Amino acid sequence: MIGLVLSLLLAMSWKNLIGAANEVDFSFFLKQLQSKNVAEVTQTGSHVTGKWKMIPEAPEGSTKKLADTFSAQIPDTMREAPELRTELSALPKYKGEDATPQLFSQFLFGSMFLMAMLLIVFFIMRRSIDPSGTSFIGSFGKAGAKRFKPSDLRTTFADVAAMESAKGELMEIVEFLKTPEKFHKLGAQIPKGVLLMGSPGTGKTLLARATAGEAGVPFFSINGSEFIQMFVGVGASRVRDLFQQARENAPCIIFVDEIDAVGRVRGAGLGGGHDEREQTLNQILSEMDGFSPTESVIVMAATNRPDVLDPALLRPGRFDRHVTIDRPTRDGRLQILKIHVRKVPLADDVDLPDVAASTIGFTGAELKNLVNEAALNAVRAERNAVIHDDFDVARDRVLMGAKREEILTDYEKSMTAYHEAGHALIAWFLPDVDPVHKVTIIPRGRALGVTQLLPEEDRYHYGEKRMHSQMAMMLGGRAAEKQVFDEFSAGAEDDLKRATSLARRMVCHWGMSEKIGPVAFRQGEDHPFLGKELHEAREFSEATAHTIDLEVQRFLNAASDRASKLLADHRPQLEAISNALLQKESIDHADLVTLLGPPIPRTSGEIKST
Ligand code: ADP
Ligand code: MG
Ligand code: ZN
Repeated sequence: MIGLVLSLLLAMSWKNLIGAANEVDFSFFLKQLQSKNVAEVTQTGSHVTGKWKMIPEAPEGSTKKLADTFSAQIPDTMREAPELRTELSALPKYKGEDATPQLFSQFLFGSMFLMAMLLIVFFIMRRSIDPSGTSFIGSFGKAGAKRFKPSDLRTTFADVAAMESAKGELMEIVEFLKTPEKFHKLGAQIPKGVLLMGSPGTGKTLLARATAGEAGVPFFSINGSEFIQMFVGVGASRVRDLFQQARENAPCIIFVDEIDAVGRVRGAGLGGGHDEREQTLNQILSEMDGFSPTESVIVMAATNRPDVLDPALLRPGRFDRHVTIDRPTRDGRLQILKIHVRKVPLADDVDLPDVAASTIGFTGAELKNLVNEAALNAVRAERNAVIHDDFDVARDRVLMGAKREEILTDYEKSMTAYHEAGHALIAWFLPDVDPVHKVTIIPRGRALGVTQLLPEEDRYHYGEKRMHSQMAMMLGGRAAEKQVFDEFSAGAEDDLKRATSLARRMVCHWGMSEKIGPVAFRQGEDHPFLGKELHEAREFSEATAHTIDLEVQRFLNAASDRASKLLADHRPQLEAISNALLQKESIDHADLVTLLGPPIPRTSGEIKST
């Protein structure tokens, strides 16, 4: 019922807002008036409506089909013009109306529209906050946490591949939730808070759910960003409510996903609304402190930015147990792949260990996505099993984005070919850069071309020299453009961004600049919601900032010069790669060996063994 009234109101005000379908230009109306084609007209304020004698042809340039009625807006400059009034009132059927009723009705419309909007907002809020709630105000502060009963949770540790050490740490928590008495008897304290740290997609959320599933206890899950609401004070009351609910359901697990949204360093000056966030954080801290040791409620939290968390969160008695989740190793990737291909029919030629070997750096989520893309590819080809090639195609897609149909001029194509050839050539001749896996000038994702390197197996140590080479490789694309075409294209934006960011980190975080020395400088960090760079209080002087900028520039210039020199020294090879690219659009490591001879031995393996 209310819905009907609403839509009526909306329809009416809509018409008022965008104008009727038979709306014509006032000048068009005047022309018709002069050619005596207007049968009747009513003027309401600055608006005329009426009927044509004969439906006129639509004005030039308009495809709109005119109706037998019309409406038009009188421009402000014309409204008071006496000629117009005379002309109009000369018509046989003219009705003039005062402007006041119009104003009044507009006001009425306006307020009705406003009411309608308010009603809609009201209903949306009510639904999103508490689907079952009957009272609007009362449901405001409710936690909004998703609650899972033990029976809903079918995820257990068996669904989590690899991560043996993380699972081992959490096993103790599981034991505690299952048989708290055993721990209490010996007076052992179990950690109240467990913080899972790791890159996005490494399986933090999955692991938290699996912990609850394994222990067979209820699981209250809320996302950090859900605490932050438009209304001040709601976040804190949500926390209170969440912990209250959890206490009533102990033993259980509270899981705060992406806690960095509320748990950032307090007083970091996030502009206006940080009070709300701080209140919420304080409430979480005081609730955690308020647990008595006998309460079997475990608070788990996950973040991919442990570095920005407020130290108060990490103190003993709060999130003092830290579980770091790394990207999976080769064997881990194989295990994860095995879990996700369970429901996928595989052809005999699929070599999962090979897939695992060629997906260095992939997270669990990316591997899951890879399997799905491979299956989709098999469906597109109307095969009824996934073959090994599907995984190759899927891998390119996950790594480089989908292919784009792009019409490029020959000049653009050739420029792209030299650009990618530049990257590839430098990667080829600098032994401490990862080997080239594939080079293509098929537009994919946001890029016109891609040079794909294959990092050697999981490495943790990166040396300074390697980074300088890496920068040269990144800048090799535009260096090739300049050398061949004597101009830069706009296609190197991403290369420049990445190279600059690397140089800046080398100078500011890793003490790799002699001028700056062994100091770590805090950089502006990203705003959690606006995504913009956030400039917090700098801890160094203007002069230091200037020196940093100069050092970053020096690094980048040196890398660019190195790239240019290498390319100049190997110009015939550059031509060879770019010609091959223009011909085949995509070349791989084997093609490069044919073109350039056997690759020089990589030094990168040695760095590993430190
Ligand atoms: P995070 O919370 O760390 O961003 P998620 O837990 O949301 O990552 O992981 C996303 C998906 O990736 C999971 O739903 C799961 O299907 C898959 N996944 C991640 N890690 C693993 C793993 N170790 N074993 C099996 N699947 C995994
Ligand atoms: Mg997650
Ligand atoms: Zn590039």
